This record gives sequence, structure tokens and C-alpha cells, in this order.
Amino acid sequence: MSNVKRVYSFGNKKAEGNGKMKELLGGKGANLAEMNLIGIPVPAGFTITTEVCTEFYTHGKDGVIAMIKPDVEKAMKEVEAQMGMEFGSTTNPLLMSVRSGARVSMPGMMDTILNLGMNDQAVEAVAKRSGNPRFAWDSYRRFVQMYGDVVLGMKPQSKEDHDPFEEIIDEMKAAKGIVNDTEFTADDLKEMVARFKAAVTKQTGKDFPNDPWEQLWGAVCAVFESWMNERAILYRQMHKYPAEWGTAVNVQAMVFGNMGDNSATGVAFTRDAATGENIFNGEYLVNAQGEDVVAGIRTPQQITIEGSRRWAKLQGIGEEERKAKYPSLEEVMPAVYKELDEIQNHLETYFKDMQDIEFTIQDGKLWMLQTRSGKRTGEAMVRMAMEMLSEGLIDEKTAVLRVEPAKLDELLHPVFDKEAVAKAKVLTKGLPASPGAATGQIVFFADDAEAWKENGKETILVRIETSPEDLKGMNAANGILTARGGMTSHAAVVARGMGKCCVSGAGAIQVDYKARTMTIGDVVLKEGDWISLNGSTGEVYEGKVATQAADLSGDFGKLMDLANKYAHLKVRANADTPRDAKQAFAFGAQGIGLCRTEHMFFEGDRIKAVREMILADDEQGRRKALAKLLPIQRGDFEGLFEVMEGNPVTVRLLDPPLHEFVPHFEKEQRELAAEMGVSYEKIKEKVEALAEVNPMLGHRGCRLGNTYPEITEMQTRAIIEAAMNVKKKGIPVHVEIMVPLVGNHKELKYQKKVIDATANEVFAERNDKIDYLIGTMIEVPRAAVTANEIAEVAQFFSFGTNDLTQMTLGFSRDDIGKFLPEYLKKGILKQDPFQILDVKGVGQLIREAVFKGRGVREGLKCGICGEHGGEPSSVEFCHYAGLNYVSCSPFRVPIARLAAAHAALKQEK
Ligand code: ADP
Ligand code: MG
Ligand code: MG
Repeated sequence: MSNVKRVYSFGNKKAEGNGKMKELLGGKGANLAEMNLIGIPVPAGFTITTEVCTEFYTHGKDGVIAMIKPDVEKAMKEVEAQMGMEFGSTTNPLLMSVRSGARVSMPGMMDTILNLGMNDQAVEAVAKRSGNPRFAWDSYRRFVQMYGDVVLGMKPQSKEDHDPFEEIIDEMKAAKGIVNDTEFTADDLKEMVARFKAAVTKQTGKDFPNDPWEQLWGAVCAVFESWMNERAILYRQMHKYPAEWGTAVNVQAMVFGNMGDNSATGVAFTRDAATGENIFNGEYLVNAQGEDVVAGIRTPQQITIEGSRRWAKLQGIGEEERKAKYPSLEEVMPAVYKELDEIQNHLETYFKDMQDIEFTIQDGKLWMLQTRSGKRTGEAMVRMAMEMLSEGLIDEKTAVLRVEPAKLDELLHPVFDKEAVAKAKVLTKGLPASPGAATGQIVFFADDAEAWKENGKETILVRIETSPEDLKGMNAANGILTARGGMTSHAAVVARGMGKCCVSGAGAIQVDYKARTMTIGDVVLKEGDWISLNGSTGEVYEGKVATQAADLSGDFGKLMDLANKYAHLKVRANADTPRDAKQAFAFGAQGIGLCRTEHMFFEGDRIKAVREMILADDEQGRRKALAKLLPIQRGDFEGLFEVMEGNPVTVRLLDPPLHEFVPHFEKEQRELAAEMGVSYEKIKEKVEALAEVNPMLGHRGCRLGNTYPEITEMQTRAIIEAAMNVKKKGIPVHVEIMVPLVGNHKELKYQKKVIDATANEVFAERNDKIDYLIGTMIEVPRAAVTANEIAEVAQFFSFGTNDLTQMTLGFSRDDIGKFLPEYLKKGILKQDPFQILDVKGVGQLIREAVFKGRGVREGLKCGICGEHGGEPSSVEFCHYAGLNYVSCSPFRVPIARLAAAHAALKQEK
């Protein structure tokens, strides 16, 4: 046990640890060591390892102190020697900071304690040696406050509780007519310390500890204890970080940014975290300590002149006033600034990533206190990765891995103007169902959205929920807002497919279709009122908030080319119309993995022919209606094939229950009856007869084609004729015909017979031929387990993971909202299986089907076409499962392409 190293010293450009030891020393400790090793000025100190944190929970407080005491005392001696001061001295006291630091930065952990070692004797010594009593007492009162809050439990547990320290400060400010903390005199601060300590005694029943070593052990143990506080545990659960990691404790000599006007403290980024621009930027405060800069006590100033000018411009402050009141560090302390600029360059070049740094200037001398890779927006992420690549800082693979696929989403949709949105009033919040920014006038009916658009108006379609009949209106509107429905509701799925902004499930909204109003609390909005939606946050704003189009130029394109270079999986799109296909192609789709033929049925007048077909009495009647649909469908397919220029296009035969297409209200039923020349009663009766108890498990999918083969005939003819027409124009075509909802290989066999026969008929008529594939969706669990039988017939598999998830888990996609929140809370489910593939269950079925299918048909082409096809972790699964491609909605294509590259590169490692 004695040869385990528990304490690692650093200081004066030497260190026992290094930057690679994040697991043992925590992120902060490892980088403090590394900064020393590369010659950057860092106050001396030592790190107590994360393993000691674990030991703290088995050996207890006294056990652990006994265990590390000799090492800590030895390390403290080294710090004393380097600083020429002594911890606990009454004449030349060394003061320390105590900082927590797990391997990843974690909110909820203990706050930093500064100026530890301060006591009634030390404060006098500091005052005397510095000749600055105000500084000495300011340091003391900060220490009592921080130590009281963090170690002695003085911090109020909730916002409503009063904070004894803040109360004292407020009282003293009022009594002395003071606005700013900096106006307190040394005597004021002395009084404050006395009052703080009295408050501690009153609340805890114990005097504030005067002994520096007692203070230190109290602080160290408080860091370990904070590892198990409720907030930290919750955060770890959310991010799936194990409790075994533990936190390290960094004990470090203090440097003082509050020593006077030649001292300061600040935070900075080596590049702009919002835009990615390669410009050093940050903020500082003169005569301040610790996190005053971010705490908003005073207005911090910009570090560079350039940054300061940009800031002043935004604030509407003129150059003269800026220079006088808010000068940059570059202007105030040019020499220190120059050194800081060199260090930030050094750190970024060394760590090869944008750094988020913290520093303090003590009486004109610069000290670095922290460096880490900085957080950034999606836009900045892409720009930095590509610029660092062209600067030669990182290589291609690193650049690809630097960009989180999900973050790309922020770049693909129109966005709100940053300033405009900051001023906007938030009416309510729903689910961020489909990202982007949209603004328009409220309409409550899909027809209105269309009609208003024809009149040149911009609309937001507000519905309780949407249905397939609303499709055209959804398309016409700028955005969709629903009161009900989750992330996979009809509105959400369709909107994502269209790349249209959508906020769903905004439960606070009451929609009154009759009155044409929506009510949120006591705000009533009428048809025609302007609102704006933020599909990336779920926020709904009052009025018209300015938007701007997404910019997909330069860096984005370069990143996508790199993704293609390293990905194994191909990425296709789910697209039903030539317009969607064009969008998908522009985003780099390598084919269409799913064209839902029925989505075209609602366009224009064709729904009439569809209804005629559905409501026909017999085969003859159906054939008559189908004949009307044939040229329409053929036209649609021609458009699609032309756009895709020889990339594979998978067309799915009719899938939904027919009941979805017929009119449900008397008025429309009467109109239809008149058009078809039959009685209203007859139509009504037919519609009722089509109703099913469980339509999702009813007469749909290949069951339609197997009971009404003439539908399959018509669709096949439309597909084959379209392909031949396009081919004639000299455009290559690659057709895949897909039979939905097969559970039994005979279902596919029967459909294949019809398809082949029809195709041969067309070939004979035209005295020409084209190649086509016949495959099936694997979406019924039985199909997955009998994949060997199905692969005898199918030339490709496409996993329809929406239905496959629904049927494997037995969860209705439309009803999961009723129990999902509770299941997530209880931990029965870790995530929504309709968003993130259930790898253990559904994933296992996919693996089995691929294995069995390829056992029968070597190299069987396999893909996935559910909503999961665009979700990064599910794409990774598809890579490992050996699929050939994923197919997702057009706006998710870039995300899937990048996720596919990540999967391949991670596997390489
Ligand atoms: P966090 O993890 O919340 O950033 P830190 O441990 O980095 O907490 O401490 C917060 C701030 O406290 C630092 O940015 C720095 O301003 C101040 N600080 C920490 N250690 C010292 C020190 N040794 N000397 C002076 N200031 C310090
Ligand atoms: Mg902090
Ligand atoms: Mg910090």
C-alpha cells in the first residue's frame, strides 16, 4: 500500500504527472502538470489522485488523512520552497487554492476554495508584507465566504432560502451607501469578516477554523464528499459516467488578481467558440479574483483591442468612451498581453485544439491556472476542424472525428437572427421535433395553409395533432406547431422528412378549431397572428422573429467529402417526391432507400382516383380507377429517376391501411358519392366497413397486394415504364422494387410472381428490357427469424425499423408518450426506442436476419430505412452489423454520412 503514489507535485516547469494521466489526476490536474512540462508559468502545487477519492469511501475521513498526510506534507514543503513562503506561518504565510477535478469537467462538484490558510494572524502578515490591507482583508473575507459555503454548509439549499453571507454584504452596502464590492475599505472588510464568522458560529454551532491544516483537511475531504452529492450523482447517471472514476483534488499556491490595479484575472478562448473564427478572445477584470469575471459582479473587459472594438460596437459605445472606460488588456498591460498571446498560441499548437484558458495576473506577472478543450457550437466545430486541417495542425481523420454528427443539424436549417431571438418573448415550449427557425401567421387548417400560401402569405400551421390529410398544408406552411404528439408523432416525422421546422407536443396550448384561436395561459392568439418557432429548442415566440438561411458553403462541403472518403456505409435518403430527392441529392445522398408511393396520393386531384379505387365494388371497378392512377404514378417515378441519375432508387409498394385515404366527414363523403355516381349511404357504409380495430396490424402492406394483385400490377407497370422512359433519354436508372410488411416468405413469392409477370408484359410490349431488383422490408419479427427462407426470394433486405421496433417491443409508436416518461424516469428504458435503436432486441433481430439472409444469398444487399437511419449511435450499430447502407430523411443525410465515417474511423483505432 505504501508504494502506491497518491500525491503528484508540479511547479517551476517540472511535474510528476503529465497530460495523459487524466484518469488518475483528473482533467485539470493532468493539464496543470502538462503546462509545467512545456514551460508555461503555473503556480506550484500538487494533485491528490482520483484513487484516493475511492479510498475515502472505504477508509473514511480519518483513515484517508492518515494515509496521505506524509505525502501531502512533503509536497507542501516543495511548494513552500518554490514560493519562498510557509503554509501556516504567521509572518510570511503561503495561501492555497483547493480545486476539484474529475476526468471530465462536471457541474455539481465542489466549488473552488481560494485563499486557504487565511486566519487572524495571516491576514495581518499579508497586509504588512503587501502594504495593502484592503487586499489582505478582501482575500480573507472571500475565503471565509467560500469555505463557509462549500465546507461548512452555509450555502442555502434553495433559491428561496436566505444566504447569510449575501445578506450581510447587502446590509453593509446599504448602511455605507456602496454599490460596487470594490468600494469596501479595508476596515469595512474587516468588519465583514467578523460578521461572517459570527454567522458561521450561529448557524453551525462551531467556530470558524483558524488552523490552516484543519482548514486544508476540511477542504480536501469536502471535495471527496462532493463526488457523492445528489447533483453530481444525477449528472453521472445522465452521462453514464461510473462512480468508480472519483475526483482528484488540486492544491495550489495562490496568485492574486486582487492585489491592485496592476493585477487582474480572466478567461479566454484561443478561437471564437460561437463562430469558429481563428481569433483570440476573452474577458478580464482588473483587481479581481477567481470567477468574478463570469459571476457578473462587474462588467468584464475584452482582452484584445479587436475584441474590445467589436464589443463596443454592439453596445453602441464610441471609441473614446471605450478607451477611457473599457480598455482591452492589450492596451492596459501590453507586455503581459503579449506574453498571454504567445502562451495561448503555444497551448493551441501543443494540444492541437481550441483551448479554454483561465489566467491571473499578480502585480504584472502572468500565471496560467487552467487549460482545456473548449466547448463550441456546430458551426464553430466544423469551421475549426477544417481550418486546423488546412493549417496542418491536425490530420484528416482527426478533423472528421472532431465534428459531432448530431451537431451538424444546427447548420442545415434556417436559423434565427441571434440578436432578434434574444429580444423575442417566449410564449411556451414544446418538443424540438424538427430543427430550424420558422415564422408566419397562424392558421389552424391545412387547406388554409395552402390557400394563404397561394396568396403569398407565410403561415405556421397550428394543430392539436396532424394526420396524413394535412400533408399538403404542412408543406405549404413555414412551420408546424402541435399541442399533442411526441418526437415521433406524425407531425414530427413528416416535418423532419421535409426539413420543415416543427415544435410538437406543446401541452400548454389549447386549440379551439371552431373559434380559430389558440390559448396559452391567458394569452389568446387568433388566426392571422404572427408567431415564430424554434425547432431546435422547442421555443414558441410571439410575433415575427427575423431569420437567416443556413450557410452550407466551403468548410461544410469539405467535411462531407472527407466523411465519404472514410465511411464504409453508403447513405441514402427517404424521399417521396422529385423535390425531396433533389434536396437529398444536394446533401450528398447516394440513392433513395425508401420512396413511399402513397405519399404522392395526396397531391393535386389524384386522391379522387385513389378513393375511387378503394371504394370500388369489385376488381373491375378497381382496375378502372387504377388506370387513372397509372400515368400519374409513372410521371412521379420518372421525375424521381431523373433526379437520381442512376443512383439506386427503392420504391416501396402501397403500404398503409386503405382507411387512411377515404373521407371521414359527411360533406366530403357526399361530394365523393356525387362524383362517383353512387349514393351517399353506400359510400358511408363502405368507409365504415374499412375501419379496423388495429389498423397497424390489419389489412395493409403486402396483404393489400396479395388480396388486390391489380394494385401491385399497376404500381409495377408505372415503375418499369417510367424507368424505361427515362433510360430512353440517356439517363441511367437503377430500380429496386420493395414489398412491405412480409412476415412469411410466401407473401413475397406471390408478389414477386405478379411483379415479374407485369414487368415481362411491359418488356414484350416495348421489345426492350431493363434490370430491376425485387426485395423486401424486414419489419415483422417473423421475417427476421425466417430470413433464410425470405432471402431465397428477396434480392435485398431493407430494415424498416419503425415497424420492427413497434412489433418487437409491442409499443405503439403513437401511444408510447403515455408511459415513456415514467419508464425513462424509473430507468426501465434508457431512451426512446423509436429514436435510438434498441440494439439488444431489435438490433439482435437485424444481426440475425443479415446473417441468415447472407447464408442463403451471398453478399445480400442490406440497408435500414427507419427513422433510426439518421441517428448517429444507430448508424454506428449499422456499421458494425455489416449493413451496406442507411437511409434517412434528406436533412439527416449529412449527419448520417459523418456518423458512418466516425464508425469506420473508431473501428480502425
Ligand atoms: P472551475 O473548474 O469551476 O473552473 P477552478 O478550479 O478552475 O474551477 O477555479 C475557478 C477559478 O478560481 C479559476 O479560474 C481562478 O480564477 C481561480 N483560482 C483557482 N486556483 C487559483 C490559484 N491558485 N490562484 C489564483 N486563482 C485561482
Ligand atoms: Mg467554475
Ligand atoms: Mg476553471
